[in-house]
Amino acid sequence: MRVSRIGAVKTYESMRKIYRHLERGTGRIVAATVTQRGSTWTISFTVDVQRAVVPTRAPEKVVGVDLGLATLYTGATPTGEHVLDVANPRHFVRSEKRLAHAQRVASRRQGPRQGVAPSKRWQRANARVRKVHANVAHSRGNLIHETTTMLAKRYDVIVVEDLNVAGMMKNRPLAKHISDAAWGEFVRQLEYTTTWYGSTLVKADRFYASSRTCSQCGTVKATLSLDERVFHCEACGLAIDRDVNAAINLARQGLAGTSSVTGRGGEVRPGRQNIAGRAHPDESSTETQPDVGA
Ligand SMILES: [Zn+2]
Repeated sequence: MRVSRIGAVKTYESMRKIYRHLERGTGRIVAATVTQRGSTWTISFTVDVQRAVVPTRAPEKVVGVDLGLATLYTGATPTGEHVLDVANPRHFVRSEKRLAHAQRVASRRQGPRQGVAPSKRWQRANARVRKVHANVAHSRGNLIHETTTMLAKRYDVIVVEDLNVAGMMKNRPLAKHISDAAWGEFVRQLEYTTTWYGSTLVKADRFYASSRTCSQCGTVKATLSLDERVFHCEACGLAIDRDVNAAINLARQGLAGTSSVTGRGGEVRPGRQNIAGRAHPDESSTETQPDVGA
């Protein structure tokens, strides 16, 4: 890769996808940003890409996805088939011990003060702290990317709850777990993967009680506490996993109507996007780490 004013740069990540766009004339690099964090250099490109917009598919296969903490993603069809079950990997919570240890080590090292350069050991210790954070973000991002892509490819209509994540974060004991679950990021990624694959994302009404409604008879419970993992219906006797029940209800909302919908039709549509944040399987690879000086 040749960068103006810097020259040839060797990158760890493949630049093939960007090159392909440049060769075909379907993309051009608008800007390049070089950042240094510790001993790592990152270059990210803002690229103008012409993406062929896939026409929206007919709504034949519908899935409802319930987002939770015990089970991260539960998916079901309107007919009650349980089609997706992803346990919560709790990426951040699991790495907390490692992070605390790395931070403790770093705090004992000689940091930069006025007129004094930070010690080599301080730099190494802080690099380890950053690495734990980066690993968490990476694993979390991978799971979201894989799941949203699979859903957008396999289903025509995907229904999720319209979550008020900011409101839920006010629940102090749960805040850490809710931010670790990254539901908001999951929905945000679904918004554009669905347009890429021609499927449709439906956000169920915020006040629709998907968890408290019986998926068999439609009776709505007045309350359902978070620790009730099984939904028992007093009206019809149904006993079903609480998340599966909610996912079935959401899926049916997708059949009922599409109030808040993303997804569009059309031909070729030029649009600027910073692909660094939105990695599409066919045109990603922008956050690259050139080993400058090698
Ligand atoms: Zn019932």
